[in-house]
Amino acid sequence: MRFEDQRKNLVEELQSNGIADMAVLKAFARIPREDYVLPEYRDYAYRNKPLPILANQTISQPQMIALMMQVLELKSTDIVLEIGTGSGYQTALLAEIVKEVCSVERLDTLSLSAQKVLRSAGFKNIFFRIGDGHTGWEKAYPPYKEFNKIIVSAGAASIPQLLVSQLAEGGIMAIPVGESSAQILHVITREHGEVAIRQTVNCSFVPLVRDIRS
Ligand code: SAH
Repeated sequence: MRFEDQRKNLVEELQSNGIADMAVLKAFARIPREDYVLPEYRDYAYRNKPLPILANQTISQPQMIALMMQVLELKSTDIVLEIGTGSGYQTALLAEIVKEVCSVERLDTLSLSAQKVLRSAGFKNIFFRIGDGHTGWEKAYPPYKEFNKIIVSAGAASIPQLLVSQLAEGGIMAIPVGESSAQILHVITREHGEVAIRQTVNCSFVPLVRDIRS
């Protein structure tokens, strides 16, 4: 089956599994996942499953990405912080919907390869930082101090307080928190200055690695 048809089927699958946000579904219908997986996995690009990428990391499961994006209630005016660029697939999905995406990845091989794919796809609204995402967007360009939405694509041992401090008023953050292989997706909001934390579904991400320096 052609990639285009497989992509349509994936969107239908996401929809029948509870994704109703039209902006999210439209983004999945536009971004070619086959461009973000390793060449040997291109034929599996539209299985609703995580797949291996470089450096023993994984491109997240489409269903989980879609769920996190839906939880964030993304708007075209949002400035979004993404921790864990990885393949760049989720970065592309976000950049389709929002104003700007600032994406942090600790492994330079992954960041550089994602930057290359995203640049050749024509995106102009994505900024990159190579480093430990526990410190968020500190000392990076553009010099944003806070974000409307924050999405963390790796499992954190606990909620990084520096990330919470970078969540703007009215903002929403989605972050898997828990052990190295099993976490619970936490949804954190800041309303009238008050931070609220809600635990949602079980999930399984690669660990959010803490670099000694941070
Ligand atoms: N959304 C990405 C997910 C990649 S897996 C995709 O679908 O391709 C998670 C990524 O988080 C990996 O690339 C890993 O290197 C990165 N990562 C792990 N710990 C990190 C940290 N402390 N800071 C930034 N990135 C981190």
